[in-house]
Amino acid sequence: MYCPLKNIFILSFILLFSFNTFAVETHKNDRLTCFAKHLDTNKEVPVKTISAITSKKIATAQWPLGYPTIAIDYRAFLKLPINTRQFIYYHECAHLKFKLDDEFIADCISLNLTDEKHELSEIDIRKLVKTLVEKFGMSRRWSELLHCDLMQKAKPTTQ
Ligand SMILES: [Zn+2]
Repeated sequence: MYCPLKNIFILSFILLFSFNTFAVETHKNDRLTCFAKHLDTNKEVPVKTISAITSKKIATAQWPLGYPTIAIDYRAFLKLPINTRQFIYYHECAHLKFKLDDEFIADCISLNLTDEKHELSEIDIRKLVKTLVEKFGMSRRWSELLHCDLMQKAKPTTQ
């Protein structure tokens, strides 16, 4: 599969530090893990996390050399509450796992992925929306989270 972003990300990868995954492990019961397919081999691999100090975004999904990777600005990331860290991590995981471009679908899948591990209640989602609005504004985008269909546990195709 041709990915136009791949070559760009090889360059940005060189600029980033390699970083151990323990840094996203904010709590012993809160290990953030994600599996996605390598672009070249099409095999499922554990998603790598790397530190992206220069990034203006808190986290981005990338495929340096075809390897599914989440680049995280840890300075900003580690200041966020756990629910928000989970949401951001699994949002990027959704991009990698399902090769998604759509931010709204990635937001909903993030909730699904979190729910699979931690059983989200409606109150949890309301709390998350509140925190996201406080931290990032964009209240319209986050309020959409209340309309995600968690019961359906929709699994989009990877096409
Ligand atoms: Zn996104």
